[in-house]
Amino acid sequence: MSLEGRGVVVTGGGRGIGRAVARRLAENGAAVVVSARTTDEIESVAEELRADGLTAHAVRCDVADEASVAAMAEEAIELLGSVDILVNNAGIARSDPVKRLQLEDWNQIMAVNATGTFLCTRAFLPGMLERGWGRVINVASVAGLRGGRYIAAYVASKHAQIGFTKALAAEVASAGITANAICPGYVDTPMTDFSVSNIVEKTGVTPEEARAHIVSLSPQQRLIRPEEIAHVALMLAGDDGESINGDTIVLGSSR
Ligand code: NAP
Repeated sequence: MSLEGRGVVVTGGGRGIGRAVARRLAENGAAVVVSARTTDEIESVAEELRADGLTAHAVRCDVADEASVAAMAEEAIELLGSVDILVNNAGIARSDPVKRLQLEDWNQIMAVNATGTFLCTRAFLPGMLERGWGRVINVASVAGLRGGRYIAAYVASKHAQIGFTKALAAEVASAGITANAICPGYVDTPMTDFSVSNIVEKTGVTPEEARAHIVSLSPQQRLIRPEEIAHVALMLAGDDGESINGDTIVLGSSR
């Protein structure tokens, strides 16, 4: 599949899933802006891609901050000419029982996972509408489709992200733009490493036991590889993904 001539922004592109998505889309011909808050991570991903002859730039952004998103969008459009494919992948997670969940933590998770998706989409949508072509690919989670213990803020933010995806898809359906959500179970990334550490800290089990517990939650008894999400993102990004709109694509779960 060729994404030649397409400009892409991947938020949360400094590690984990975003890094794999940025690579896959760049390998298929797109020019990519890799964005996140940690400058050395995004610069190192962009450098790795450029070292392989691919087109990539690093642009810092906090997706929860309206001004930061506006500045990133301006720079990305300047670097790429146009942003045709937006991958809203930046996300954070933490776990607390509802009775101990702090408002500050709730607000932060909603701000990054849900509001960040809205702010980035709003920044690039006018250009997509003008050109009559666009792809909004939101990396949500199976937690956007069902509940789970001790992750109420994350679950609520991912349901909001999916709700936004469906509403956007309805709004842009006749404009050559699609919006979809990829919903993985546990993926082998630093975010899952953090969940392992958290289980260790809160329950006293060993890291191996904590990881085995997470793996046991998967019907396939394994963690998903970031490249598997990248594979779906590529499918959605191309011209042949045109009729997939407003959908949630679940990975690693039997629903
Ligand atoms: P990760 O390894 O922790 O990477 C998260 C990325 O998001 C990093 O680049 C991080 O960089 C960036 N980020 C966090 N807060 C940000 C902010 N305010 N503004 C801009 N960038 C921000 O996580 P991951 O596992 O790759 O997760 C990527 C996405 O997949 C998330 O939306 C997550 O909810 C979702 N997901 C993950 C799993 C899983 O098991 N890992 C499962 C389902 C869905 P900085 O901290 O430098 O900003």
